[in-house]
Amino acid sequence: MHTIEQLDDGRAVYLNGQRINVSTIPIFRRTLELNNQYYRLQQQHPEVHTYEEDRQTYDIAFKVPRTLADLQQKHQAYQEIAQSNNGMLGRTPDFLNTGMAVLAERSAFLGRNRYTDFAANAKSYAQWIKANDVFISHALQNPQLDRQRAINAIPSGYAGVHTVDRNQDGIFVSGAKMVNTMAPIADELLVFNPPELLLEKGDTSYAVAFATPIKSPGVKVICRKLLDHPDYGTDDYPLSNALDEIDAYIVFDHAFIPWKHVFVENNVEMSNRFFIDSGMFIHTSHQDEVRGITKLEFATSVAIRVAHILGLDGFLGVQEKLGRLTANLELIKGTINRSEEQGHLDELGIYTPSLQALQAVRSTLPEFYDEALKVTQHLAAGSMVGVPGFGEFTGENSALVTQALTTDRATAEERTKLLNLAFDLTSSGFGQRQLMYEYYHGGDPMRIRSQHYQHADLQAGNTMLDHLLKD
Ligand SMILES: Cc1cc2nc3c(=O)[nH]c(=O)nc-3n(C[C@H](O)[C@H](O)[C@H](O)COP(=O)(O)OP(=O)(O)OC[C@H]3O[C@@H](n4cnc5c(N)ncnc54)[C@H](O)[C@@H]3O)c2cc1C
Repeated sequence: MHTIEQLDDGRAVYLNGQRINVSTIPIFRRTLELNNQYYRLQQQHPEVHTYEEDRQTYDIAFKVPRTLADLQQKHQAYQEIAQSNNGMLGRTPDFLNTGMAVLAERSAFLGRNRYTDFAANAKSYAQWIKANDVFISHALQNPQLDRQRAINAIPSGYAGVHTVDRNQDGIFVSGAKMVNTMAPIADELLVFNPPELLLEKGDTSYAVAFATPIKSPGVKVICRKLLDHPDYGTDDYPLSNALDEIDAYIVFDHAFIPWKHVFVENNVEMSNRFFIDSGMFIHTSHQDEVRGITKLEFATSVAIRVAHILGLDGFLGVQEKLGRLTANLELIKGTINRSEEQGHLDELGIYTPSLQALQAVRSTLPEFYDEALKVTQHLAAGSMVGVPGFGEFTGENSALVTQALTTDRATAEERTKLLNLAFDLTSSGFGQRQLMYEYYHGGDPMRIRSQHYQHADLQAGNTMLDHLLKD
């Protein structure tokens, strides 16, 4: 469990040009409180959220899955955590913790250099995170300065994070990473390079993977603009006033990283392999998609409730739209289950979900989520944008507004709350950021689909095709 006071630890967090004390920003406090549900559930529902190893109790995310049942238990835990924030917190601690579980097992490929043993560093870092249930965020994406040029060809030095010096104690890094969700309230930051945009030969100094406390000197967390509405309450903005997991631009200014926290240094091949070969990619994807499906379920329910309260659900055309949403949900739930059931034991005996099934979810969920929001927008139509602020229920027009908006289906206040939620989910800055998040946070769907096609197993289809073409 984290207390808000712990965030007043000297970390360099900036908001609108000012260096801030994170603990004084109300929306950060609320987000931390919701994020703490990850820790609370370990107490409230230990049979799902914890497991024992060498007589110690750990969060289930840290369990190395050995069987289908292990993966299914993790699924249930991820889902319960996501339900506590309607799937709106993308980077709760379980996301990277499940990656730490496999990193500890699979780090051997990282090798060593003359100063340090990278494989041992990664293993002991992951074990330390697990033993202390430390909250990590991550930054992999390099800034979009000029995607048509190699990183090293961009002169500013901020097209990624690169080593500027090294000695026998560690390395010094400078540069930037484009987006780091949750950075202001996390404890640690894991930095590496994305597997989609591979580094090239000349990018050697950018080929790093390391971890650092957020509060370390030389680490600057520059937040995007906040999306809450301090002049309104949660009846008006039930989502944007409840949480914001904050995306931040991260700048390193000659930050020192001791060797024990360096996992890749000036090694393009290892940097390109880090996320995938460590097993972190596939296991964090599993958590990520369970969370995303939970959010889709929430958005589907909002659409259906809106249709009902506005008296639209008796129309065949509306039912068809809602039926598409429920069918989408069914399909995607089936596919995540398939990713588990079609899993395999990797060469180290880790039960690993099917990548093809997971990638199918990764590439399709953004469209399904978008569709759920669009259906809500189209159904809630003018009433969603014309809904009065909740303050009207206590203002001079209270009786009037109450009478005018009450129907057989809902009281005026129930109706207003729901329409405010619909607006917040689909159309506010918060809602649009959530839509962007689903689209992009797991990588560009264009690349995911391209990979899916390249790895598709079409043996049965091809056999039929060949048979037909032969005759
Ligand atoms: C809300 C949000 C939260 C995020 N949180 C995190 C986080 O916590 N940590 C983190 O590391 N990252 C995070 N990300 C970043 C995310 O990983 C990237 O946005 C995502 O991988 C897409 O990469 P990009 O933004 O660099 O876009 P690009 O890969 O640059 O793509 C942008 C556009 O250019 C096109 N394009 C680019 N290159 C090519 C090419 N070679 N050929 C054809 N078209 C091309 C793409 O199709 C796309 O339309 C977050 C993103 C969002 C939106």
